[in-house]
Amino acid sequence: MIREKYTYNSKETEHLGFQVGLLLQKGMVLLLEGDLAAGKTTFTKGIGKALGISRTINSPTFTILKRYVHDENKLYHIDLYRLDDEGSDFDLEDYINSDGVSVIEWPFKLKSLLPSSYLLIKIETLGENERKFSFEAKGLIYEGVVKYL
Ligand code: ADP
Ligand code: MG
Repeated sequence: MIREKYTYNSKETEHLGFQVGLLLQKGMVLLLEGDLAAGKTTFTKGIGKALGISRTINSPTFTILKRYVHDENKLYHIDLYRLDDEGSDFDLEDYINSDGVSVIEWPFKLKSLLPSSYLLIKIETLGENERKFSFEAKGLIYEGVVKYL
């Protein structure tokens, strides 16, 4: 199942992330595809709010991983943009099927390590402020998320 949504400013993108965040369960993996400044991190901020995380979610570009916790909710925000293909010893497996929600920007940099089921979210930049979101469920547990969007 694929569902499409449009946003017209960053607040709307954050709100869309919030709506998705409310539907997530522990262990879920979200892959965020989209060019620089598409809105991947903005969307992730909304997910964090839905999980009750009050700390500001920034781009983890220089650290690859940032971990946020609120009570029993954990969010692993991963950005593989700066990962070099050969030399990395980043253990993506540790954050997949984990005790939290994993959101991965630039996921296809570690194609071989990706799980077989996930929620794929493609963000296209249509104009300065217009974005198109395509939500695609890979695996049964993600069908529910897409269905209720
Ligand atoms: P990414 O993580 O994909 O590189 P960011 O979320 O960090 O992108 O940045 C998105 C940028 O685009 C921000 O500067 C934001 O203000 C701007 N922007 C404009 N319109 C939108 C929109 N509809 N949704 C998200 N961001 C938008
Ligand atoms: Mg980003």
